[in-house]
Amino acid sequence: MIARNPNRRWIVAVALALVWASAFCSSLVAAPAGAREGTVRAREGTVRAKRPRLLAQAGARRDDCVRLGGDGPLVDRSRERALAGWKPEIAAYSKRHYNEYTWRLHPTCIVLHYTTGTTFPWNLTRSTSFAGEKPGLASHFVIAGTKIWQILPLDVRSRGAYGINHRAINIEMVAANARDLSHRRTTLQTCVKLVRWLMARYHISKAHVYSHAQVATMNRRVVPEVLDLVNPTPYHKVDPGAQNMRFIKAQL
Ligand SMILES: [Zn+2]
Repeated sequence: MIARNPNRRWIVAVALALVWASAFCSSLVAAPAGAREGTVRAREGTVRAKRPRLLAQAGARRDDCVRLGGDGPLVDRSRERALAGWKPEIAAYSKRHYNEYTWRLHPTCIVLHYTTGTTFPWNLTRSTSFAGEKPGLASHFVIAGTKIWQILPLDVRSRGAYGINHRAINIEMVAANARDLSHRRTTLQTCVKLVRWLMARYHISKAHVYSHAQVATMNRRVVPEVLDLVNPTPYHKVDPGAQNMRFIKAQL
């Protein structure tokens, strides 16, 4: 008969905990938006409503979480756009709107947004057209709490704001509106961290970090890069809110 090891139960418990923890990105569990993920997916029928929340959050494999540029903030690439279709469509879009037939981005500015919703904006990864035109909508990043999803590589043009997609890195913060975003301090701080890294990486000055509201003026005195051959007139946008822009820019 084999003698029972009194420590065996503890060893098994610790081993199981390590296996469980390694299945998730560390920030995924803590992310506020991630906590609502289960609800979103349940509505779309991919995960049953009663399924445990942590299983519903397991959208990211561990190897999808990488440091941006090797030394930047931790980003989750599990929700990236498929590029095979995106590149030719955004190149054609760029030809129409900016007279440049290319998908390639050399960023000169950063544009900040909120998503007008409190759950992950799946339209940014799944939409195939917007306002009757291809491609769908997509920004480079979506931020919720400490979590950053990267939707498109930084050398690929996004479709986040008329007038600036040929020059901008677009960043979305998950929030219903400006007031809601002003209460999401962790999201704002994560945005500061990401913008700081991007400014250093691409030599972008603070003066070239814009709100979508500034871009929507279509005024070159406000945003020198602004151009759109299809939609040249000003349009109405308030995101991400003047107070939130002041909060972020004060820390850049
Ligand atoms: Zn916007």
